[in-house]
Parts: sequence; structure tokens; C-alpha cells
Amino acid sequence: MTESAGASAVAEASATCEGPTEADWEAAVAAVRELPPHARVLLVCHVNPDGDALGSMLGFALGLRRMGLRHVQATFPGPHEIPQPFQTLPGVELLVPAEQAWTDPDLVVSFDAASAARLGCLADRLLTAPQCLVLDHHASNTRFGKIHLVDPNAAATSVVAEELLARLAVPLDAEIAECFYVAVATDTGSFRFDMTTPAVHQMAARLIATGLRPGEISRRVFDSRPFGAIRLYGDVLRRAQLDTEAAGGRGLVWTYATLADLERHGQQAYVLEALIDSVRCAIEADVSCVLKQVAEQEWAVSLRSRGATDVAQVAVALGGGGHRMAAGFTGYGSARSVINTLRATLDRLCAN
Ligand code: AMP
Ligand code: MN
Ligand code: MN
Repeated sequence: MTESAGASAVAEASATCEGPTEADWEAAVAAVRELPPHARVLLVCHVNPDGDALGSMLGFALGLRRMGLRHVQATFPGPHEIPQPFQTLPGVELLVPAEQAWTDPDLVVSFDAASAARLGCLADRLLTAPQCLVLDHHASNTRFGKIHLVDPNAAATSVVAEELLARLAVPLDAEIAECFYVAVATDTGSFRFDMTTPAVHQMAARLIATGLRPGEISRRVFDSRPFGAIRLYGDVLRRAQLDTEAAGGRGLVWTYATLADLERHGQQAYVLEALIDSVRCAIEADVSCVLKQVAEQEWAVSLRSRGATDVAQVAVALGGGGHRMAAGFTGYGSARSVINTLRATLDRLCAN
């Protein structure tokens, strides 16, 4: 995306800050209720899925199964590698590799993807399916479906998914609740971030009341990594750079992790997701960034703000998306050139 296209996408994003209307909810409920038991429902979530993408999708998938729908598939684009912390999520047996996903489902539901591009090779299913529903909570959502339940005020997509299941009169059970709990705990940084409203804690209370064990789930999802990952974190954090002049003087702290780092320590890419949480602690920088190499000249870039900078605006300008305090984009070229482009964009946007 060019920078000027990025700027217009920012304008679009701010124009869609309202949550779903009652008519949107009714349309979504009708789209699901009208399905016969033999209908094929394909659920999709964003590439490189995180806890919210997988948790909201699998929790909803289980809800559809409880409604008597017999054919429910869940999938995501890219290699069929389920990050280890999510391999024990209830409903994981409904996941199929993207190549095996039905090409002609009766309904497609998208989870936690702000744009069709985030669905990679699965994006075309939304165009061809007779009905499609988009569940999301990114302000930058481009409204690429037919029915949209997009709530930028929701802490996680699972908040939207839980409400839709409630409106469909599907009771929460411990399996559905575990999926939604992992999702909301992931996106709120274990209930630490600003979007942790009373409503989020009320949702957590409903989920925990089904009997799930938050300590056990958190240990499994957040606090279990192979020892090699700890050594890898050491290497990557040691090369972190602090640039207090960047972002119009607000400061930028950044580091990068290469495919060679992963190989040297025998680790899978999911372990890199935790790095940004260490890097963003640096009080000298409002903006933090981790570049995660995906291919020779391609980087998945995570951005975080300590409050002054709207990193969603920065990410959108660079072809990505996200939220005010947490966003990302795909960078191309060397790590140095991606950082230089980021710095130029930060300088331009932070000067305003
Ligand atoms: P992450 O840094 O991967 O945890 O992502 C932070 C936020 O930015 C999440 O809401 C992501 O969905 C979003 N995000 C990350 N990468 C991209 C991208 N390439 N395009 C759009 N949104 C992204
Ligand atoms: Mn996500
Ligand atoms: Mn999310």
C-alpha cells in the first residue's frame, strides 16, 4: 500500500468507530439460524493466528456444533502450524489445513482479521460464499464481508463472539469458555491493558463460572516455553537499540529476530511473540518494535505504544493495521531498511 493510500485508510478507519447496530446483530443471528443442520460452515481467522484469532474462532465453532450444525471447519492461511500454547484448546480437532478447507461453504465467518489481506489464500471464500459474516474489533477493519459485527470498543474478537452465541441462545460451557478466556486474556495482556473494562471482567466472571482454572490456563498459554526460547530471548534482547530522537523525540526501542536465530536455538516462530512484551518496558521510548523475519526479505513487524503515539495509524500507513496501542505490518527488505522506513513514517506522523 502506498503512503497516500495509507492515509485514506486511516480516515476510513476513524469513520467506522461505532460498534454493531441492532440490525447488524439481527442479520448475523438470522444468517446462522437459517442454516439447515447439514449446511457447511467455514470459519477463518488471520494469518499467524494469536490467542484471540484461534480462541474466538474455536469457541464459536464449538457453539455452532452445540446448535446441531454437523459440518463446521475452522482454518487459517499459511502453514498448518498451530502454535504450541494453543494446541490443547478445546475444538482444535475442528481445525483443518487451508488447502483442505471447503471451497463452496454455505456460510463463511471471519475472526479477528482487519482486512481480507489478513486471510491470505482464504480471502476469496468470502467473495464466493452465499453468506459471510465478519467478527472483529479493529478500528481499521475494512468491512470486507457482507454482515459485519465489528466493535472497536471490544477488548477482543471473543467479546463479540460471546455475545453472538448468547443471542443465538447457546449456553456457555467449560470448553467454549476456555477458548474465549484464552482469547480475551491474550488480547488484554492478562487483563492489564486499558480496554479491560468492567464488562471485560464481567465476561471473565461468566467464563470462569463454567469451572475453568485461570491459573492452569495461564501457565500453559503464557508461561510455558522451551529452554531454547529463553536463550533465544537473550540473544535478541541483547541487540535491542534505543533511539531517543525517533518519533519526534518520543523515542523508539527496537530489535529483530531472524530465521537463523530460530534455527540456532531449535525454536518455532510462535516463541517470538513474547519478545515485544519485554522490549515495550523501556521507559525511554514511547514506541517499541520487534521485527520477526518470515522470509529472506520479509518481516512481521510488531509495534507497541506506551500511550502518546497511535501505532495503528503508523501501521496502516505502512500497509498493516491494529489498535492504538498495539499494531503491526509486513516489512520488506533488510531489517535496517524496514526500520528506516518505520522511522521516517514515525517522524512524519509524530510531527503533526
Ligand atoms: P502483534 O504485534 O502481531 O501482536 O499484532 C498487534 C496487532 O496488530 C493485532 O491486533 C494484529 O491483528 C495487528 N496486526 C499485526 N500485523 C498486522 C498486519 N500485517 N496487518 C494488519 N494488522 C496487523
Ligand atoms: Mn489477533
Ligand atoms: Mn484481537
